[in-house]
Amino acid sequence: MMNAAELKMQFLFSLRSHGITNKRVLTAMEHIDRSNYISETFTDRAYEDIPLPIGCGQTISQPSIVAIMTQALDVQRRDKVLEIGTGSGYQAAILSQLARRVYTIDRHSQLIAAAQNVFKAKDIANIISFTADGSHGLPEQAPFDRIILTAASDDPPSTLLAQLRVGGTMVLPVGQSDSIQTLVKIEKTKAGLEYHELRQVRFVPLLEGLGL
Ligand code: SAH
Repeated sequence: MMNAAELKMQFLFSLRSHGITNKRVLTAMEHIDRSNYISETFTDRAYEDIPLPIGCGQTISQPSIVAIMTQALDVQRRDKVLEIGTGSGYQAAILSQLARRVYTIDRHSQLIAAAQNVFKAKDIANIISFTADGSHGLPEQAPFDRIILTAASDDPPSTLLAQLRVGGTMVLPVGQSDSIQTLVKIEKTKAGLEYHELRQVRFVPLLEGLGL
């Protein structure tokens, strides 16, 4: 049986084998403890590369996918980032280590309340989180340097693309909820939008309105 430090070493090693080479991303993944973002029932599985249930029928993503999406987003220190799909708050916490400020939105108030408690307990002060339907984005804070969606939609939402700065990047899963989706990176240039397909993924769907 490995101890916590050994499990974490193995976790960081496995991220490298998934192509995570960006030092800042690896440092952020090392610094943010995934066990704080899941229920105690699963503490001993925190460093396994699997999604885990977080309540409200949702899951915390697989850590290798969090790392791949974070690296693809290429966050810079001065960036203002928008995340749609706070869930446990784990992805937002990783982003908070890399950006100036992170805005994150979830349609379940229960998940937002739980995530806010962890951010507070861990002294993470540059995340602002809301309960709302994230498909409308956050027009009053737009434009954003980076936008990440952690729930899948059939097409990249045009409302969110409009809130991305020219020179900015969006990373999101695109596809039907019940089938394999594609992780897409979109770069907004003066000339228009450039699409890059990264890999196959599986996320819960982006749903309309607020959760119960
Ligand atoms: N990033 C999360 C995992 C997200 S799971 C983490 O690190 O744990 C996907 C989340 O997207 C769920 O919590 C779900 O409630 C949320 N979601 C789905 N549709 C949404 C919408 N329209 N607006 C905001 N959040 C949404």
